[in-house]
Amino acid sequence: MRESVKIIPLAGIDLAGLEHLLAIKGVDSRYARRILYWIFRRGIRSFTEINDIPKNVLSVLPESFATGLSSPVSSAVSADGSVKYLFRTSEGLLHETVYLPEGNRKTVCVSVQSGCRMGCRFCATGLSGWRGNLRAGEIVNQVVSLPHDVSHVVMMGMGEPGDNIEEVIKAYNIITAEWGLAIGRNRVTVSTVGVTPAVKRLLEETECNLTLSLYSPFSEERREVMPAESAWPYKETLSLMKAFKADRNRRLTVAYVMIRGKNDTERHLEELNRLLTGTRLRVNLLPYHQVENDSDCSSDAETMMRFKHLLVTSGVGASVRKSRGGDIAAACGMLAAGGR
Ligand code: SF4
Repeated sequence: MRESVKIIPLAGIDLAGLEHLLAIKGVDSRYARRILYWIFRRGIRSFTEINDIPKNVLSVLPESFATGLSSPVSSAVSADGSVKYLFRTSEGLLHETVYLPEGNRKTVCVSVQSGCRMGCRFCATGLSGWRGNLRAGEIVNQVVSLPHDVSHVVMMGMGEPGDNIEEVIKAYNIITAEWGLAIGRNRVTVSTVGVTPAVKRLLEETECNLTLSLYSPFSEERREVMPAESAWPYKETLSLMKAFKADRNRRLTVAYVMIRGKNDTERHLEELNRLLTGTRLRVNLLPYHQVENDSDCSSDAETMMRFKHLLVTSGVGASVRKSRGGDIAAACGMLAAGGR
């Protein structure tokens, strides 16, 4: 019986990796850069679309490789111009991606897992459970396979990057490489609950912007809402971020989702100020988007602006993030990909 050949999807591979694979197959490895150009910059679905590589080379590629790219299975457009896409991997893992245009800035928010096992109580993804990790190529596909130009990538969709760090770093390298998508290294932002070993790797091995999702500056309170606090106390990540001597272009941020009466009191503000004054860390204040069966609601705009004002006057950089895509369940904390 003939042994079945494993087809390798190229969307998750780097230049050196493809050069090596081509050499094994007896194909001139100098074609690797050109093949990756067609995959990452032109988004081809079939090698037959390549028109600048000899036909005898192209004809052997499908025996061992696939592009690894696939189109979204559905989409929904928000009144504010953002678009949510649903993707399905070859193994059937559903995951969502949000395109957020704003002037010249075209941001895509990608998922790194289908679902999430961190269980943050303010997040629909966390409440939907974990279904599986996405491979680097499946993360990259969410950028390449959109019908839009993309200037910035944020890994803030479904899943915790620190729980899939190997594939996240591979994807970052492809997204930023000149042979890959060539998006600026500091135009990629990774958001984490603070999985400390992963944070160390992101700081040392990449040049991405990093966001720590905080919820509360009080550890006990944070643990109740973000169970990851038990395994990885946020203060460890905060210390790493404070100690890190980054260049001025690399942004290290604390994301603070604001829930009325829960974490928007004077006590919280004072503690945030105490933790962050004198550091170069910025605070991004986010409105809360209610998850199913929850009676909590977002802090009002006035409270959020007051937090911002008092942080800024204490010397802490702060901003309030505008809510986008709420009408199509695409806003921060709302992605569930049919998991609920
Ligand atoms: S906020 Fe992030 S880490 Fe927490 S459950 Fe949602 S996706 Fe997972």
